[in-house]
Amino acid sequence: MRVCSVPLKVRFRGVTERQGVLLEGPAGWGEFSPFLEYDDAECVPWLRAALEMARQPFPAPLRSAVPVNTTIPAVDPERAHALAAASGCGTAKVKVAERGQALAEDCARIEAVRDALGPHAKIRIDANAGWDLDTALRILPELDRAASGLEYAEQPCPTVADLAALRRRLDIPIAADESIRKSGDPEAVVRAEAADVVVLKVQPLGGVRACLELAERLGLPVVVSSALETSVGIAAGVALAAALPELPHACGLATVSLSEADPAAQSLLPVAGELPAIRVVPDGAPCLAPPDVAEWWRERVARVARLAGEDLSDVE
Ligand SMILES: [Mg+2]
Repeated sequence: MRVCSVPLKVRFRGVTERQGVLLEGPAGWGEFSPFLEYDDAECVPWLRAALEMARQPFPAPLRSAVPVNTTIPAVDPERAHALAAASGCGTAKVKVAERGQALAEDCARIEAVRDALGPHAKIRIDANAGWDLDTALRILPELDRAASGLEYAEQPCPTVADLAALRRRLDIPIAADESIRKSGDPEAVVRAEAADVVVLKVQPLGGVRACLELAERLGLPVVVSSALETSVGIAAGVALAAALPELPHACGLATVSLSEADPAAQSLLPVAGELPAIRVVPDGAPCLAPPDVAEWWRERVARVARLAGEDLSDVE
């Protein structure tokens, strides 16, 4: 069991480093990296996902590589332009609705990304549930104009009812992310006709197989996204995307480039806008966490395993 701490290039989701555990089982390496503030119960599906990776082979892939979007954090337009231009991706996901920033900053960032990627690229935005319904109704058309057409808007509002209202009132496709993995009732999105696209993340949803079953139940186009894992965990997201019967959109899995380091020698960085469907072994930069952090994570793994009824004797 290897406890890692990876510095991020840009503050993301309020954090400047990502911590987690890499563990090895009979089938290979898995990653357990729930965010620090999550309680033990919320970490259970994350551990199930890590153990699935370590214990079972990935499901049979239907494609050997998957298209991915570049993720543009809530940075200034010059930085956004440079990141998009260097990405080699034909799809960009632009973070918006960052606390303390104005609408004009979101528009300038989106315009810079359009300029960098050209007229045929796809631009999606992610508001991380940052707006109420009235704000989203006012802002989304502005962002759609700045993008010369958005591919979709991801989780503009927190509630399923508001996503459904947006879909009825605006001509902009809506993707559900937090409403899928945090509500405890992902099917509510389908019942309410609240989304055109669903975002699935392997760790919070309990593993690759659990996500494949959920995708079948939901019956909507899926975008597989990361939880800012190292390349070891990203490989499970790519495995899910590679095993989905249909994959009409680029996936949000090109996030290793947001880190300063990666414990894998063969990092999952996009080449020509794609990631290969492979297993990843941590034999690159050690990225080892300091002893007190490592101890905290070992205790966390033990507590979550007890809660999940998981015997960890076959993983190390
Ligand atoms: Mg999201």
